[in-house]
Amino acid sequence: MPKIKKLLIANRGEIALRIHRACHEMGIETVAVHSTADADAMHVRLADQAICIGPPAATESYLNIANIISAAEISGADAIHPGYGFLSENAKFAEIVEAHGIIFVGPKPEHIVTMGDKVEAKRTAGRLGLPLVPGSDGAISDIAEAKQIAERIGYPVIIKAASGGGGRGMKVCTSEDQLETLMSQAGSEAKAAFGDATVYMEKYLGNPRHIEFQVFGDGQGNAIHLGERDCSLQRRHQKVLEEAPSPVLGQEDRERMGAVCSKAMADMGYRGAGTIEFLWEDGEFYFIEMNTRLQVEHPVTEMITGLDLVREQIQIAEGRPLTLRQQDVVFRGHAIECRINAEDPRTFAPSPGLVTMFHAPGGMHVRVDSGLYTGYRVPPYYDSMIAKLIVYGTTRNGALRRLRRALEEFVIDGPTTTIPLHQALLDDPDFQAGDYTIKWLEEWLAKQG
Ligand code: ADP
Repeated sequence: MPKIKKLLIANRGEIALRIHRACHEMGIETVAVHSTADADAMHVRLADQAICIGPPAATESYLNIANIISAAEISGADAIHPGYGFLSENAKFAEIVEAHGIIFVGPKPEHIVTMGDKVEAKRTAGRLGLPLVPGSDGAISDIAEAKQIAERIGYPVIIKAASGGGGRGMKVCTSEDQLETLMSQAGSEAKAAFGDATVYMEKYLGNPRHIEFQVFGDGQGNAIHLGERDCSLQRRHQKVLEEAPSPVLGQEDRERMGAVCSKAMADMGYRGAGTIEFLWEDGEFYFIEMNTRLQVEHPVTEMITGLDLVREQIQIAEGRPLTLRQQDVVFRGHAIECRINAEDPRTFAPSPGLVTMFHAPGGMHVRVDSGLYTGYRVPPYYDSMIAKLIVYGTTRNGALRRLRRALEEFVIDGPTTTIPLHQALLDDPDFQAGDYTIKWLEEWLAKQG
């Protein structure tokens, strides 16, 4: 069995640091690749080796496959971890990595392809027995056909891009007279954003929750699930705060859906970490997509299972069978993650720049994943998420109290951050009661004025 000795981290920010930490705990050396804008990043300082792969623009650095492969060859890395975003769900990248005899810490390229096309993903999920959102059976282009389908499933419907991601390229349509315009808008926006104009249609669920299952497969027909995360607190279809377990799901539903998910992954021969995303309404699950990578919100699962998901990913990539059986996975307590962005908490305008003071909260069951330090300059070129605060409590209420205390302690001076948004959320009775859906946060924000 190949033992990974040196791993190249093809990412930046908190997730690069997160991967570096798992590697060093496993005795694996790390290679950081970075743009010129990230020369001072914390993970670059901590890695055993650092290689500059290009200018600030991600297309010329973090998405530059040739430069990343060259860096792996020069450094003698025997594996590449892509993190999330950037090249993590790029099947071509995974194939090129493997063609160079380097281990790709991720799924088989063919599964990235299948799940990367949402039309194909839904078809596959349906075949594997996952419940689907009612909608078009595949891509739609013909307006007459689209009208028929919308009529059948009932308005409102949502037009989604087959190659979509990051909550972009979706149009909600409430009546037939808007359908043609919205379909062509969705198509041209999808073409501009993802280079693929293919769209499909789904019933627009009125007030669902977003509940996703963490799965792991060994690529040899064994798979387990690590329970669910509730990611219903969203703004513009982007997650803001996540928790595990979901405040609304009972043990029986968790076991039932978890088993459906892990069986699907076993049947598929899925390898590595994955997330199966569902909308949940009136006690029913509806598959929307699968992400074939580590998620931003994976630490809440780590908190309630005691498992290191990056370590599990690396062991699977080395070709080991799953070390865990389903019956060994024990869920304990409650975890909540706040995504802290360098943004104005009201207008959400980005606020990069010099961090004049950074002090992370600590104490029992408090975890901060962040590459920030005093004197660091948040570059303006990338995603605005600068830290994740994750807390654990034996009960949800305990986790809420700990979160309040940890947010109070957090000091980030310089950039404006969304910490006050999380503090205000914590004061809301609906949030405290776990009574919210994917619509809730935007309505709440509108009320705050
Ligand atoms: P992306 O890959 O862009 O994140 P998803 O398919 O995962 O797209 O959907 C992102 C979010 O959009 C969901 O969490 C949900 O808030 C909303 N959404 C997607 N499909 C539907 C639907 N059929 N009905 C209602 N909301 C939806």
